[in-house]
Amino acid sequence: MPRSFFGGVHPKGYKALTRDAAIRPITPKQVCIAMSQHIGAPCVPLVGLGDTVTLGQKVGDGKGLCVPVHASVSGKVVAVEPRPHPGGTKILSVVIENDGMDTLCKDIAPRQNVDALSADELLAIIREAGIAGMGGAAFPTNVKLSSGLSKVDTVIVNAAECEPYISADDRLMREEPARIVGGLEIIKRILKPTRSAVGIEANKPEAVAAMQAQLPADTELLVLRTRYPQGAEKQLIQSVTGRCVPPGGLPAAVGCAVFNAATCAAVFDAVYEGMPLVRRVVTVSGDAIAKPANFLVPIGTPFSVLLEAAGGLSDKAYKLLCGGPMMGIAQHTTEAMTIKGCNALTCLTTAHKVAESTPHCIRCGRCITACPMHLMPLQIYKAQQSGNIEKLRYRNVVDCIDCGCCAYTCPAGIALAQSCRTAKRMLREADAKEKAAGGAGK
Ligand code: SF4
Ligand code: SF4
Repeated sequence: MPRSFFGGVHPKGYKALTRDAAIRPITPKQVCIAMSQHIGAPCVPLVGLGDTVTLGQKVGDGKGLCVPVHASVSGKVVAVEPRPHPGGTKILSVVIENDGMDTLCKDIAPRQNVDALSADELLAIIREAGIAGMGGAAFPTNVKLSSGLSKVDTVIVNAAECEPYISADDRLMREEPARIVGGLEIIKRILKPTRSAVGIEANKPEAVAAMQAQLPADTELLVLRTRYPQGAEKQLIQSVTGRCVPPGGLPAAVGCAVFNAATCAAVFDAVYEGMPLVRRVVTVSGDAIAKPANFLVPIGTPFSVLLEAAGGLSDKAYKLLCGGPMMGIAQHTTEAMTIKGCNALTCLTTAHKVAESTPHCIRCGRCITACPMHLMPLQIYKAQQSGNIEKLRYRNVVDCIDCGCCAYTCPAGIALAQSCRTAKRMLREADAKEKAAGGAGK
């Protein structure tokens, strides 16, 4: 029986714009494969200007906390240079002119001996396929799996997809549930949990039916309350198991490991088909786009190509977000590229512009009751505004999951979530300074 979590909000879903839009492939003329698409060290390019590359060929790799990146089309490398990244900066990228042939890399072939593979062999395959969390976090999946070995008793598939507008996982579950379930079975073989569950919000009845038809008897399907941020890792764990991840802790601290539905499908592709992560489903939606849609997108496709395929932006377009309206990152250019963690482009008109009147707190307390992490967003805002690092530490701002519930609920229109992001950056910088000063003193 699914439980609930503290706080949260219930924003209008706008899922109807795309929930019945079947996934359509998209073919860009050019892709920009960013060397940094995951949490950890960036890749180093393995190809140079003028090289010919095949679909699925490794074009970048690195050491430490790093997974490789691959060519998502076949063609010719026309540049290796910094290109606009959804994160807001320019990132070194391998730019490939698509020859339209999709010539497959010679190393890629379906595997016959999957049942005989050991956990270590499966982990190596997942690493080589470049899989990083596709729900947005982009943490290397092989590392998450390795660190959960002998600690995890519960594996959860995150299929909540709680952000408004986005239906990429919903469509994937409805159209290809077997890939998701096949990936989950591989994950279960590695982690050997005693319990496995798939959590889906109640607003996706067709996905619930499609997944239920595929799931084995030892995996539960939990229909969760439609409430944002149901799909946040810690909140999902609480809903499924009743366990609370301690402040600053990871899911493994309470015996859990959570994998996004699309990540599970990518694990299936890697293990059974030998195919690295080169494509993903992206929802393009919002009231500023002519024909909201779901696309199967080669990684590296510029956003401008997706927007054009969805009928183009309206004259009233005000904001373009990589992701949904609650946690998405505002884009300053349509030339940024699709990366592994990008599940949506949300295009909004001026109707969504928050009135920027004088933002005076009226002490209503709504931000506190909405915060699913039990934080005090107003106090964090005050400490951030005054640059009080000690107070930011005391207020546990590092536990903020950037869900945006506080800003959504604030009647005064105070940019509380933005303030929390800035506060975390201030704290990181202060810590780095302190560490450097300590090192210099030794
Ligand atoms: S303080 Fe952070 S975790 Fe709490 S509601 Fe605001 S954005 Fe979400
Ligand atoms: S929701 Fe806004 S107005 Fe209400 S207490 Fe929080 S910051 Fe103040």
